[in-house]
Amino acid sequence: MLLKSTAATFAACAAACLLALLLSVPSFWAFSRIQEASHARKHTFEVILHGEALLTALIDAETGERGYALTGDEPFLEPYIAVSGEVSEQLKALQGLVQAKEAQGQLAALVPLVDAKLAEIARVIQLRRSGGLGAARAAVAEGTGKHQMDAIRDRLRAFAAAEQAVLSRNDAAIQGYMRNLLTVIVSVSVAILLAALFGVYLLQRRSQQLLRDLVHAETRHLLEAQERTNEDLTRANTGLESAMLIAQQANLAKSDFLSSMSHELRTPLNAILGFAQLLESSAPPPTEAQRVSVGRILEAGWYLLKLINEILDLAVIESGRLSISKEPVALGEVLQECRTLVAHQGQARGIQLTFPAFPAPLYVHADRLRLKQILLNLLSNAIKYNQNGGQVEVACASPFPGRLRLSVRDTGPGLSGPQLAQLFQPFNRLGQEHGPEQGTGIGLAMSKLLVELMGGVIGVDSTLGEGSVFWLELNASAAPALVGTADAAALALPAGPVRAPGECKVLCIEDNPANLALIEQLLRRRPEVRMLSAGEAGLGLQLARTLLPRVILMDINLPGISGLQALRILREDSATAHIPVLAISANAMPNDISRGLEAGFFRYLTKPIQIRLFMEALDEALEVTAAPGEALPPVPGSV
Ligand code: MN
Repeated sequence: MLLKSTAATFAACAAACLLALLLSVPSFWAFSRIQEASHARKHTFEVILHGEALLTALIDAETGERGYALTGDEPFLEPYIAVSGEVSEQLKALQGLVQAKEAQGQLAALVPLVDAKLAEIARVIQLRRSGGLGAARAAVAEGTGKHQMDAIRDRLRAFAAAEQAVLSRNDAAIQGYMRNLLTVIVSVSVAILLAALFGVYLLQRRSQQLLRDLVHAETRHLLEAQERTNEDLTRANTGLESAMLIAQQANLAKSDFLSSMSHELRTPLNAILGFAQLLESSAPPPTEAQRVSVGRILEAGWYLLKLINEILDLAVIESGRLSISKEPVALGEVLQECRTLVAHQGQARGIQLTFPAFPAPLYVHADRLRLKQILLNLLSNAIKYNQNGGQVEVACASPFPGRLRLSVRDTGPGLSGPQLAQLFQPFNRLGQEHGPEQGTGIGLAMSKLLVELMGGVIGVDSTLGEGSVFWLELNASAAPALVGTADAAALALPAGPVRAPGECKVLCIEDNPANLALIEQLLRRRPEVRMLSAGEAGLGLQLARTLLPRVILMDINLPGISGLQALRILREDSATAHIPVLAISANAMPNDISRGLEAGFFRYLTKPIQIRLFMEALDEALEVTAAPGEALPPVPGSV
């Protein structure tokens, strides 16, 4: 198609060129004809003028002859003398100029006439000279000269007419040539125009075809590319899906591996630590060298246990399985507890610890246990990576309403830019691996994950040679409060039978003093209830075993043994198995609640505590244990 159309276009161009050539040949011919004709025209005029000049000269000669004949004055003969020598020459020249046959004939006939006229003039002059005026007048009166002149006039007139005829023919020829030329120009131009139009049409058709071909090819390419992209996307999707599946499986496998490994590692570690302690306190006592060795074994063992626990903790947080229990936490209390825990560490290095004073309690919305863990980590780092006799200053500020910022400033060596960039990466100890301080490099990474889980931010500002400020920001919170109308009358009237004051012991295991105070305040409204409390599960279990309370209120997030573990221990002990245990937790997700109920909690109450629900649950629990020793009824449904 393309080839054909190219050939056609070429043919159209060739035709146009040929037509132009065809136009130029006749044009050139016609132009030369016109040029020739115009030359001939000019020539004809010249010839006629010559003829007229000849006649004038002859008339002048005759006039001179007459004048001389009348007067006998010689000067009258001047025109004759001038003409007589020239006329035949002029005639010859005229003959050479004339081309038309008819005119040539007229000229040929004119020559003897002119000769005769000149001879007659000469005769009259001769007669005047010899015979005087009378003889000359008689010769003139004969009329020969006049007849001759008339004949010459006629001949010249005929000659001019012949030349005029030639001129007319010439003009007609020129007009014909011009007409023909015009016809040729017009027709050839039309032909060229048509050829050009045809060429343009062909070109347009060809360009359209080319365009169509291009569009077709481009479309095909695009479609192919799209198909390829689709295939790639499908492949990538499949790849992603399988990668995700593999990642999920790997994550599950990692969690399984970590939990089984931690169990596998802890079992022999328990034996190591246990027997090392036995050796340390055995009788007879070990020698000094043995005691040092056992001390080393214990030190390494405890460190290893801490390491395993930290790794397991980080894995649990990273896998997203850690449930954070956010509740109002009093900063002052937590900082006080932390201060007690790090005081010894600071004293050992002569480091002065400064803590802020809280005139009124400030609360943050946080997981108390985890917040304490983070603060301990920051404080312990600030002491560890400080100079002997340095300072650690804890401060609290509110960058904007609703937010609290805790900062821990040290007087250590400070951190460089690259160190700051790697600070919160797990297992990265920033070149402290070979330093004197023990550590895993997990603490800050874990702190960051925990702070973020609590909706906060953690960061650091540091100046080399001056020290670092580690800070964290958390949402501020109001003091823990009760939800619901505190109808004193309703609260004062228990649903069950009236009991003696202090008859019912209720044990509350809760690590958050603020919550403990709240529950205490609630229970004070029931005179029959005597409240016992424990800040952690170990003490709580001991109290439960020895005092056998009627009901146990249990927080889930507890330091050391969790509420769930504590419940299991209570259930396994026949002395405490019958005691209804109410969970009171900030872990309020549906799966937290169902897991709690499955584990065997009597009721699962969420924080903030709703007074009515709390009182109802407490009354039901007291009913159940109205008769001590009775078997626990099947676990009722959720609240
Ligand atoms: Mn707690």
